[in-house]
Amino acid sequence: MNGLKIAIATGPSGFVTVNSILEASKASGTSRLDWLELGLAAAEADETLHDVGVGGMPDALGRMSLDAAIMDGPTHRAGAVAGLLGFRSPIAVARRVMDCTPHVMLVGEGAKRFAEAQGFTDEGALLTDYSRERYEAFLRGEVDLEATGDQHIDGGDTVGAIVMDTDNQLACGTSTSGLAFKMPGRVGDSPIIGGGLYVEQGIGSAVCLGMGEQMMQVGMAMRTVMKLAQGLPPQAAAEAAMRDMIRLRPSCLGTTCLVIALNQAGDAGGARTKEHPDFHYWQATQSGVIKIEAPVMGD
Ligand code: ASP
Repeated sequence: MNGLKIAIATGPSGFVTVNSILEASKASGTSRLDWLELGLAAAEADETLHDVGVGGMPDALGRMSLDAAIMDGPTHRAGAVAGLLGFRSPIAVARRVMDCTPHVMLVGEGAKRFAEAQGFTDEGALLTDYSRERYEAFLRGEVDLEATGDQHIDGGDTVGAIVMDTDNQLACGTSTSGLAFKMPGRVGDSPIIGGGLYVEQGIGSAVCLGMGEQMMQVGMAMRTVMKLAQGLPPQAAAEAAMRDMIRLRPSCLGTTCLVIALNQAGDAGGARTKEHPDFHYWQATQSGVIKIEAPVMGD
């Protein structure tokens, strides 16, 4: 049976994700894309995780506007949704975009109509007691978004995951509620193919966590995979891509950004701009789950 070789995933939600991927991979008749979708959906469904899905943070209008994407290595196909309102599992909708349409990304109203047509239920605001309370504090001016410079103070992370099966087939995906209390309509790197995620079968894959405005302007995930294509091991590739971003966009050093990569040999690596307790990643293999702290590339 084709099983899981390795999965890696970013941030606190990555723990839930890799464990769910590991669990999902034990069911017969399932594939890397099923494991990835179920792993990311488990994080989306967990209301204690304040970066993705129902537990996430709303935009400045108090709406849970979710972004997600999935990409498959062997078929080189991707699906994504952005600014999706009302649906608890944007990764499931992104997968349908990949599987059921000739398109790659659906946004806003169109994404919502598509999700409904696919049988997903519009659950309205999706705010939890915690996110409502934080949103009300934001409206009262009690949330200091400038304190960290990048809105990670109140959630606003991403779960990005990469899966490799025992046939060495790769897939990757992301899910996020984006920056906490973001400008309505704002979309970050996470659902952007090449920005927040990318996979090329035969080479490897990369996914990002952190300040989307920085990473999408350097094509961070694609850039990291191209470093793998040049023959760098994943750790060196992630560090080289991070050094490129620091050169091109020195302001990224004031923000938290993490890129993680997996090569075709199943080796992982990662690099981040600065210290942050949530900017680590998790790795699951048949021998268990471990937490990895990526090196800080800023001063
Ligand atoms: N990458 C996400 C975005 O920019 C947010 C984050 O990971 O902090 O929307």
